Amino acid sequence: MISHRKFILDEKEIPEKWYNIQADMPNKPLPSLHPVTKQPIGPDDLAPLFPMELIKQEIAQERWIEIPEEVREVYKLWRPTPLFRATNLEKELDTPAKIYYKYEGVSPAGSHKPNTAVAQAYYNMKEGVRKLTTETGAGQWGSALAFACERFGIDLEVYMVRVSYEQKPYRKLLMNTWGAEVYSSPTDKTESGKAILAKSPNSPGSLGIAISEAVERAATSNGEKKYSLGSVLNHVLMHQTVIGLEAIKQMEKAGDYPDIVIAPLGGGSNFAGISFPFLNQKLTNGKDIRCIAVEPASCPKLTKGEFRYDFGDTVGLTPLLPMYTLGHTFVPESIHAGGLRYHGASVLVSQLLKDKLVEASAIHQLECFAAGVKFANTEGILPAPEATHGIAQVIREANKAKEEDKEKTILFNLCGHGYLDMSAYQDYFDGKLEDHELTHEELYAGLNELQTPRIER
Ligand SMILES: *Cc1c(COP(=O)(O)O)cnc(C)c1O
Repeated sequence: MISHRKFILDEKEIPEKWYNIQADMPNKPLPSLHPVTKQPIGPDDLAPLFPMELIKQEIAQERWIEIPEEVREVYKLWRPTPLFRATNLEKELDTPAKIYYKYEGVSPAGSHKPNTAVAQAYYNMKEGVRKLTTETGAGQWGSALAFACERFGIDLEVYMVRVSYEQKPYRKLLMNTWGAEVYSSPTDKTESGKAILAKSPNSPGSLGIAISEAVERAATSNGEKKYSLGSVLNHVLMHQTVIGLEAIKQMEKAGDYPDIVIAPLGGGSNFAGISFPFLNQKLTNGKDIRCIAVEPASCPKLTKGEFRYDFGDTVGLTPLLPMYTLGHTFVPESIHAGGLRYHGASVLVSQLLKDKLVEASAIHQLECFAAGVKFANTEGILPAPEATHGIAQVIREANKAKEEDKEKTILFNLCGHGYLDMSAYQDYFDGKLEDHELTHEELYAGLNELQTPRIER
């Protein structure tokens, strides 16, 4: 019998609605607070930064939200994405576990990020916005939004974390190709950037700093520019649920159902994208399923951070979010998985973790790169450095299944390819990468500076 490797959906099966997990959460997320007044924020506070439709989605309680036809039309360029069974990897690991992966690297920008970039550019265009600002880590988000803005005739200004700007010139060129302007952050174009440079002229930058710069540029533009964020926010996570909604249908085609769903976590959007639709089945149908978010051991907000109110950016311009955080001044090591170098985690994922509905794991980069190379050698696709974190966890679970002699089904989100991250693999092959155990001081440097109380709940 020939067993199937690939599970493909028809264009007509692109989801028509996004799934909003807020409808099903047993503990609703706590309100975000105004950075100055510390009162719960309302739509008016966010209006200078985001179009009203996205603000509505941020607080929506409806379980399903219609995907506009124009957005689905753009999705057709790469969606539905394929789901594969990793039979070669299974053989290599000699595991009784069945391993499946959803592959989001087939999008024009090479990751899951266009799923929300297209939706955000669309709603901005609908409300007459002509200019957006944003930040980017490894350049995945910047290129996704540059692609989306180009579709809808919007100009884009990108603040790119300095270490990535220097390590990953090709992503910058990709953004330029799609018409975006890209700056190495911290810059001297903003008060936020200048303040950081005054303190540390050689700052490698961080997502938190780049967010401060992009938010400041929009907030001080007299309404000319709005701001767009590639992860963390509720509406961003919701847009990504097309991944899991498709995966559910594809697992049906495979005649299988996952016991474990795994994805790397930077801000939480690709993890939410694959896991929330399965969590819907857990929360409403009692399906027994484990969802594991994987973070770098050098930026362990979920496993070693604290659940408390903190800013989403380094300077403190964003609302205070109730989330797992290492403190907004925490500057993670310059690891290659740039998309995972973020001090906090989405409010939704944080609350679900607090409520033990999802799990978290932290893995060092050498184990991740080894897993990435093993994946490339067995399944062919070279994963993004961020994605290797998910693969490393998959291998741990597959090995555990072997030890316990249990036939488990594992699904993971291969959220991006690594073909523009070859310098990371070069450093790995050249033996230049090291694992760095965070010292107590490093871990608490950011947390000790926080003024906000811990949330007991
Ligand atoms: C941005 C990115 C991530 C991390 O961001 P999330 O919001 O947690 O998804 C992970 N993998 C890739 C390939 C990315 O581009």
